[in-house]
Order: sequence, then C-alpha cells, then structure tokens
Amino acid sequence: MRASRYLIATQKETPADAEIISHQLMLRAGLIRKLAAGLYTWLPMGLRTLRKVERIVREEMDRSGAQELLMPAVQPAELWRESGRWDEYGGELLRMNDRHGREFCFGPTHEEVITDLIRNELKSYKQLPANFFQIQTKFRDERRPRFGVMRAREFIMKDAYSFHISAESLDETYQLMHRTYCAIFDRLGLDYRPVQADSGAIGGSGSQEFHVLASSGEDAIVFSTGSDYAANIEKAEAMAPAGERPAPTQAMTEVATPGQRTIANITEFLKEDVTQTVKTLLVKAEAEAGAEEGSDPGLVALVLRGDHSLNEIKAENLAGVADPLTMATDEEIQHATGCAPGSIGPVNLPVPVIVDRSAAHLADFVCGANKDDVHLTGVNWLRDLPLGRVEDLRNVVEGDASPCGQGTLEIRRGIEVGHIFKLGNKYSKALNATVLDENGKTATMSMGCYGIGVSRIVAASIEQNHDDRGILWPDAIAPFRVAVVLLNGHKSPAVAEAGEKLYQQLQQAGYDVLLDDRNERPGVKFADMELTGIPHRFVVSDRGLEAGTLEYKGRSDADKQDVALADAISFLK
Ligand code: ATP
Ligand code: MG
Ligand code: MG
Ligand code: MG
Repeated sequence: MRASRYLIATQKETPADAEIISHQLMLRAGLIRKLAAGLYTWLPMGLRTLRKVERIVREEMDRSGAQELLMPAVQPAELWRESGRWDEYGGELLRMNDRHGREFCFGPTHEEVITDLIRNELKSYKQLPANFFQIQTKFRDERRPRFGVMRAREFIMKDAYSFHISAESLDETYQLMHRTYCAIFDRLGLDYRPVQADSGAIGGSGSQEFHVLASSGEDAIVFSTGSDYAANIEKAEAMAPAGERPAPTQAMTEVATPGQRTIANITEFLKEDVTQTVKTLLVKAEAEAGAEEGSDPGLVALVLRGDHSLNEIKAENLAGVADPLTMATDEEIQHATGCAPGSIGPVNLPVPVIVDRSAAHLADFVCGANKDDVHLTGVNWLRDLPLGRVEDLRNVVEGDASPCGQGTLEIRRGIEVGHIFKLGNKYSKALNATVLDENGKTATMSMGCYGIGVSRIVAASIEQNHDDRGILWPDAIAPFRVAVVLLNGHKSPAVAEAGEKLYQQLQQAGYDVLLDDRNERPGVKFADMELTGIPHRFVVSDRGLEAGTLEYKGRSDADKQDVALADAISFLK
C-alpha cells in the first residue's frame, strides 16, 4: 500500500471524551471513527487489524473442527418467545417491527437461531457432536457504551454453539474449545488468564471467561499465588467460605424482610452515619433515575455496605426521583445477585432499593446476570466509580487464603475477551431440539456456547501494547508489518527507485508493507508510523544509498541500525 493513496487519518490531539488509552490511540491512529454512541466505523487501517484478528480466530476454530456458517443479524420475535427470552432479556435487546407490524430483534447472541436451525437439520445421534460458529455483527443496547469498541453497541463477535448427545461429549468439546481459545489468545500475543465464572443463573454446569489483564479492565479477577486457582470476582466471592461474611445486623434484616418494606422503616434505618462511598452510590442512583425520567428507568439500586448505614438520605430523596417503577421481584433480584433469601430484599419505594450488607453481594451485583437489563442498571453506575472503589467494598481481598488452601489471593483487573459456557439443555428443551439416540428414542440435545469479542480484542491488545508514542502491534495483527519510509523521495529519483524496489521485494516475500511515499517532513512520517504501531521500519535515504544501506528500527527498539540494502529481507526473518 502506498501511503500517498491511503487514508492515514492520524491526529495529534488526544480526544477529550476518550478515557482509556486504547480508545485514545484508536482515534489518534485513525483506526476508528464514532458515528453515534456505541457505533463505530472501522477505517482502512483499523479494519486491517480487525481482519487479522478474525483470521486467527477462524483458523483456530477451523482447526478444532467447528463448521463456519453465517446467520442473520435480524431475528424473529417468535423464536425469542419460544425460549422465554423475549420478556426476560430487557433493554439490551434492540426490538423492531417490519412493515407488516411483525416483531424482530437485532441479535445480541444467537442461541435461538442456531437451535431452531439444528432442530430441523440434525436427526440422529450419529451426526453429533457438532459445533457451528460464525463471525458476525451483534447489537446490544448497552446502557452505557464506552471505551470505544471495547464496550460498543454494535460489535463483532465470534460465537459458536455445540450440540451433543451426552454430558461427556459436551465436556469434551468444552475442553477442546478451552484449548482452542488458548491457542487463539497465544497467537494474538495477549497476556490473558482463563478464570472460572459463575454459570448458576443459566443453570449450566460450567463456565470460564478469558480475561486480558489490563488496569482499565471493567472486571476483577482473582488468582492464587500458589496454585492454578483463578476465578472472576463473582465466582471467587461465591466460593469464599461463608463464615467470613459478617452476619446481617438487626436493622438490615428488618429492611430486607418482605412485609416490612416501608418508607418509615427505611428512613429509620438510614439514620446513622454514612460513608462517602455509600453516598456516592446513592447520588449516582438518583442521577441515573432522574436522567431517565419519562423513559423506563429500570431498577436503580442502593447498596449498603457492611456495617455502614445512611443518615443523609431521606425518604424525600428517594421519592419523586422517578414515577413508580416496575419493581423487580424478589426472585428476579435473587437471580441477578445470587444472594441468599433474607439477606437482601427490594424495598417498596418509588426507587427500588437493594439493601445489601456485604461486599460480596455488591460484587455479585456488579456483574450479576446478563439476563435482564433491569438488573444491569446498577452495574453501570457501579462501574463508573473510580477504579479501586469497588474493591474496597469486597470481602474477598488480596492476601486472603485461596480456597484450595495453597497460596494467597491476588486481585487484578481484566477485560473479558472470551467466554465458554456449558448451556446444558436450556435452549434445546425450550425449543424441543431432539435427535434419535442409539435406541431409536427421542433425546434432547445438550449444548455449549463459546463467544469471543473479536472487535474488543483490538482494543484489549492496545491496552497491553503501547508506549508514549503510540501503539506497539505484535506482528500477527499489525495493519502493516513493515513500513518503508522514503526520505526526500519526491526530490531524489534514487530514493524513490530504491524504495519502490524494496517495497516490491518485501511484498513478494509475503509482507504487508506500507510505502510511505508522502510528500511530508521526515518527522511527520516517523511519528505516524510510530503512532500506528507498525512493527518494522526501513528508511531509504540518499545518504544510506551512497553507503549501500537502509536504516532499520523495530517499533520497540531503543536504537536504529544500518542494514545492507541487499540483506533487508533476510534481516527481517
Ligand atoms: P460483558 O461482561 O463485557 O458485558 P458479556 O459477558 O455480556 O460481556 P458475552 O455474552 O459473554 O458478553 O459475549 C461474548 C463476548 O463478546 C464477551 O466475552 C466480550 O468479549 C464480547 N462483548 C460482549 N459485549 C460487548 C460489547 N458491548 N462490545 C464489545 N464486545 C462485547
Ligand atoms: Mg454484557
Ligand atoms: Mg461478562
Ligand atoms: Mg460473558
């Protein structure tokens, strides 16, 4: 590619609304542009990297024996009614009608569509196991899209769905996907950890997330220093010995007991001292409810921590924040938070309040359920707390003994880039997806599902690979692997000619090359090549040509070096 004919949309200024480094660099390097909240155009330079990520994911999925297909992004409501998710999924589901008034959604995930396909296509256990994947655009109407493509509304996911006649077969494919994901993330050059995740809500029997370690990560993950134990924080909380959690105080139990949820009761309860943290939480809850007035405000949650309670929060502050809301039921909240009965309860106020004494429950709430946006309302404003705050509220803390007894716990931040899940028969049962087993009897298939955030990976990689001059792409996903920069190429025919020749040779040797033939100052060219993260750079200059050399610099090298013109290709190998 010739830079003079290519959209190099680099920017000097750091965009004001980009909070994290990958978002800043993706804008500054000209990889993406925002169209609207959570909607991004991939510019040519960014798309090249996205396609390389896709290619690695596809190659490894192919290698695992999974079959690629492509399902529609738009899905009929009937299928979602069949699974029960049309009513359960909540605000993240973008719903729409066609000209005949029929209902559809833009798929946030494809369990229903694949299960519908497979119940029609597969007839016999002999056709199992089978694993199907696609790399496709999803839409989730995230309440708070942020960090660019990291948490977008429209994004690209690799999703796979496997079908089985037995639990053992599901287990085998699940393990195979685990190995496949490790192969993918290794090839992508990411520093990642597979961690145990809670699968309770969907009723599956196993679930693991793959997290890229980064301080900007929205999730917390817990490791043991002395063993292989690794879990996301929700799972870690769930696995922590129950006795370590403080018992609820009398007031808390009262508030949480159904039948006692009155404004008087809660006002009474709120008469004590309040910590800044708790205040922050409530203010955020109010702001969010207020901002949403007129629209469906969803569930706003107040989380009280451990031995703290509130006094400055008066009932008036809670009343009138929004019109009476649809209350989440006890069951729904328990489903979302995983809290034991009695330890938590929705309060009969205009703003539903979750009173939760323990950090564990807060953590549960942070990532609670992916089922229903109603529950996720709380998640988003909790996520907006300054990093570190949420940890303060937890009761799994660094230095605790690990559940397996070996080593102590360490907590790090992670970006969820993959998720594997044993679904069991949730969807196959609801949609009646059966095959004939070896005795000729009808058997419901078991299923697994396996997601990778393809577009999120681009941002996650930058979080791990950058310096103060820009991106440091690993070779595997760099938009171009080599830059050939011409110094004074517009005035010097010798430079233009030698550069052209090198450009051709490198391409023939299989490299993606960007020939920087622009009529720009050297400083501008170097800065652009560094900002866009091209791993290898050759400079062609009159002075070098006189000595028969090129100047080479690796993107993360401290120094430049001279390479004989004739050796350029072998030098790179
Ligand atoms: P998160 O916890 O970040 O909201 P999720 O658990 O809802 O993600 P899954 O349903 O497990 O997501 O989807 C599979 C993968 O898709 C995730 O592991 C993640 O990498 C990616 N993904 C999910 N939501 C988004 C998004 N809004 N923008 C970009 N990628 C996403
Ligand atoms: Mg989500
Ligand atoms: Mg998640
Ligand atoms: Mg997930």
